[in-house]
Order: sequence, then structure tokens, then C-alpha cells
Amino acid sequence: MPQPDLILKNASLRDGRRVDIAIGGGRILALEPAIVADAPSEDLGGRLVLPGFCDTHVHLDKACLLGRCGHDHGDLAAAIGAVSRLKAGFTPDDVYRRGAYCLDKAIVQGTTHMRTHVEIDPLVGLRSFEAVMALKRDYAWAVDLSVCVFPQEGLINNPGTEELLVEALEQGADLLGGCPYTDSEPHTQISRLFDLARRFDVDLDFHLDFDLDPSWMHLDEVLRQTVARGWGGRVAVGHVTKLSALPAAALDALALRLAGAGIAVTALPSTDLYLTGRTEAGNAPRGVAPVHRLAARGVCCSVATNNVMNPFTPFGDLSLLRMANLYANVCHAGPADFPAVLDLVTTGAARLMKIAGYGLHAGAAADLVVLDAMDEQQACGEIAAPIFGLKNGRRSFTRPVPRLHRPGEAALS
Ligand SMILES: [Zn+2]
Repeated sequence: MPQPDLILKNASLRDGRRVDIAIGGGRILALEPAIVADAPSEDLGGRLVLPGFCDTHVHLDKACLLGRCGHDHGDLAAAIGAVSRLKAGFTPDDVYRRGAYCLDKAIVQGTTHMRTHVEIDPLVGLRSFEAVMALKRDYAWAVDLSVCVFPQEGLINNPGTEELLVEALEQGADLLGGCPYTDSEPHTQISRLFDLARRFDVDLDFHLDFDLDPSWMHLDEVLRQTVARGWGGRVAVGHVTKLSALPAAALDALALRLAGAGIAVTALPSTDLYLTGRTEAGNAPRGVAPVHRLAARGVCCSVATNNVMNPFTPFGDLSLLRMANLYANVCHAGPADFPAVLDLVTTGAARLMKIAGYGLHAGAAADLVVLDAMDEQQACGEIAAPIFGLKNGRRSFTRPVPRLHRPGEAALS
């Protein structure tokens, strides 16, 4: 083993093993019991170590807008309209500052990888994109930011949008998103986006089927085109709240088709809960795609943050562990499912984003988070606090463990 820079002593792994972790040159060198080496060390006291969290779907460009537009805009269409009215006034500096605020929060929650969706259209031009590309450069010390450009307000109905998407892809956007449900011609949008994905050799990530009527789905067209275009393994879909309305047998059948076609699925529990089911008089449905059930049938799946403190979702602290816990509450995922739920914000999410060298094994990037928990059950059930993290072997944040000052104990130290 090469000379380590750091040894993390007494780390618990997800499988229950207790190991020391040797880190050097930005990578994990070894995970073994009782590593002896001449290097600085930190005793974790048996705390759980996970690879850094991967947030597969975040809108940094429209985060933190509540101060500008109030907070109760109702349904999905109202939220899109509220942000659309503000978007014309976005400047690169404004988007950068709001995005940086979110990234600072994500880092202290243990996130080391993030895919951010950026709206591109004639209203905002490339101003948000420019800011997010600057964030990608400036935050590379802590987060690998992947930039997904997409037409939130439609493509075919919004002339000039496609040219701007092309410009963004030429300027280094990592992948292309879609939003067929706002388009005048949803299937044509899907088709145009597959054309562009092939031209630029990028993956696709659609906002899709964001309602609770399972009698029709744009997902059928995405499935068809993914197979026809040979783009399996390169397509993800987010929300797909319709899936929450499917009976178990239909969900299982669809899972087989998704796994076969190589289409990944992301649930965005906070937004999906907040925006769907609003017209119900009572017994409002949950409206969150049961992705751990899809994952159990071989579909690549994740749970992610989506919107933060804006008309789509007036909540958010960028904690993926909180989001995993929320998902588990809503989707009836009990303790036996907690490992699968943690996969949705770690290994599953990393697979969706195609992150090379991810995980806790010798040779992997030393991107990890230490939780104030001893095992997976505690981590997921309690929303355990991240206490420090490493990015490429360098400590990227520290959050001290809280102390109680019991009676008789000095409180001022
Ligand atoms: Zn989204």
C-alpha cells in the first residue's frame, strides 16, 4: 500500500464490518481492520461511513425565490408561471449567489455529486447556464456538478429554445433534459431531444408524467424511442408521479420494460407531495413514484431534492438523508427496506449519473461522509447528522457533534 495521508480508524461500513480506512492521493487505499501506518488518524468511534451522497436532480437556477414571489402558488402550472415571471430578471450574478447558497448547504449534508437542471429559453437566454457553469468550476473542490440543460416551458411551442440548447451543449453542458408535459407537441419534443442527444453524444433526463392519471403516459413514447434509438442506459425520467397510481401488477410489468430498455427513474418526494393531489376533497393521494419497488425489479433509481424554497417546493435544506427518510415514510418503506432506500441516494444515484470510481473500496475516489450513526437503520430512521466529509481525500466540511450540558456540568466551555 502506498503511504497514506490519513487513516480513519474504527469506521463502520454498511455491511456491519468495522474497519480502518487508509486514504492517500485523493483515493481510498485500503479498508481493513487495524491498519498501521505513519499518518495522521481520526478515530470515528464506530460511526457509519458512506460514500458521498449523489443528488441526481436539483434546480439551482430557480432555488430560493420565495422572498420575491410569495409562497402559495398552488399547483404545478401556477409554480411554472410564477417562476417564468421572475426569470426574465435573472442575472448570472443573482443565479450564482442563490446556487452557491444551496451548494454550501448540500456540502454540509454530505453531498459530493449533483446533477443540476438549468432552464434554457428565450426569456432567460443562457444567463442561468453561465452562472451554473461558473458554480461547477468554483465548487469542484467539494461537489462534482453535472449540468443538464432543458426547456421547462416547452420546445416546439417556444421558438428560439432549441438554438439556445444547442449553444449550451456546444459550451459544455453535460446532458440534455426534457419537459414534454409543457409542450404543445410532447412527442415531437421527445423526438427532437433524442436527435440532439445523438448529435452531441449526451444522456437524456426528462421531467415526465407529473400527474396522477395512469391511463396514458409520455413514458410509453420515451420507452419506444429509447429502444428505437439504441439509447438504453442513457435515459432517466424524473417525477413520473403517475406510477404512484398504478396497481402492483401493472407497476411490476412496467418495471420490467424500464429495466429492459435501460431507463432510470428518479422520485422527487418533497415536490411530488407538495404539488400533486391538490384537487382532492379528502384522502389526498401520496403521488410519489415507488422507486424502491422498481429498483427491486432491476430498474436504476434515485431519490433527489428537486426544488428548494421556491413556488414548486417551499422547503429544502439539500439533505439527501432527509429526502430518503421522507421517501421511506411516504412509500411505506420500513426498516427492512432502509438499505434499499439508502441506495437511492448513494449507489443507485451514482449509477444513474454514471459516476466512475464511486463507492467505498480500494481504488475509489475518497469522496465520503461520516454520519453520527452506527448503522444503516439509525442513519435512515433518525436522519443522522453528517459530521464530516471528504472530497478527493480532502476534508470538505465539519459539523461538530452536539453536546448536552447536563445539570452540574460546566456550560461555558
Ligand atoms: Zn425538476
